[in-house]
Amino acid sequence: MRITDVEVVILRVPPAGQPCEWGWDGVLVLVHTDAGITGVGESDTSPYVVKAFIEAAHSNLACFGLRETLVGENPLEIQRLWSKMYESSSYMGRRGVGIHAISAVDIALWDIASQYYKQPIHMLLGGKFRDHIPAYGTFIPVDNPDGNRRLAAEVKARGFKAVKFGGGSFGLDIEHDYKVVKAVRDEVGDETGVMIDMVSRWKTWNNALSCCKRLEEFNLGWVEEPVPSDDLDGYCRLAQAAPQPISGGEILATRWEFKDFMERGRPGIVQPDITRCGGISEMVRIGHLAEMYGMRLVPHGFSTGVLLQATIQFLAAYPDGNLIEYSQSSSPLFTDLTGPMPKLKDSALAVPDLIGLGSTLDWDCIKKYRIA
Ligand code: MG
Repeated sequence: MRITDVEVVILRVPPAGQPCEWGWDGVLVLVHTDAGITGVGESDTSPYVVKAFIEAAHSNLACFGLRETLVGENPLEIQRLWSKMYESSSYMGRRGVGIHAISAVDIALWDIASQYYKQPIHMLLGGKFRDHIPAYGTFIPVDNPDGNRRLAAEVKARGFKAVKFGGGSFGLDIEHDYKVVKAVRDEVGDETGVMIDMVSRWKTWNNALSCCKRLEEFNLGWVEEPVPSDDLDGYCRLAQAAPQPISGGEILATRWEFKDFMERGRPGIVQPDITRCGGISEMVRIGHLAEMYGMRLVPHGFSTGVLLQATIQFLAAYPDGNLIEYSQSSSPLFTDLTGPMPKLKDSALAVPDLIGLGSTLDWDCIKKYRIA
């Protein structure tokens, strides 16, 4: 079996020039083979830059676009191809979007392998530790506390035992944040987990520490990305002093960035995104690191069903994979692009024994929103 083409599909719901929130655009990478098998991957990043990174013609040995690197190769040689992609794009890649693009290809290669061997991805990863993965629901908050009270109530009513929110105007003023967190905690009660995502808005560790203390009474499950991810010493000082567990890492790529984050930042929880950290292959390696550093791994995930299914397959085969993020986005790229979407039961998602990513692409949805 040989790779014949790598196709990049850019999707966008709002018209060009209109604002676009998380989850309302996306990029799929389709790896085609001469055996009639196609693998699907995605990356939650700039679709346009991923397309350029994959389609670029080579200019020297360290500047190959991924398509040129892959065409003609055997797609089952996933680890060798990961290294080949990494090395042949190293001048322009190594981190950031280079690894985001490799993540999408890697997920597609695992999808191909699963179809070729006729085994679920979690079997190829060594077998599953669990049949169900507890899930928490994430929503993007609105400006007023009462609106967030309603959003949290909706998420709880869908059956989640934990909710997370962040973005919007949350994180810009601690007294506003206090009112929002209080409204949500009052609404969902003490039995439901509440986590907050600061998207790096608290800037410095000492400011973040005072904000964490201000919110201490709400018994938050974690405080996510309180300070910028490059401030590893800030993470470390905050993680030692804050009353809540500190989490982060969705922005990081490769085992090397996570090694630094774990060694120097010392968060309680690491949150690699499978479509940005380097795909399923690199997520497994980051998982090994998390085990060695004694940290909990709860993947980030707020995009399409391709990301969700890839994350489920990894977590099923990860010893400590006992919590998954479940987007509450109403974007058709989440609700309609792939099917069937995993259903929540007893606050958990079932691990499908399906071949591949277990999701069929809805080509009507793709036709409707494809812009390139
Ligand atoms: Mg986040």
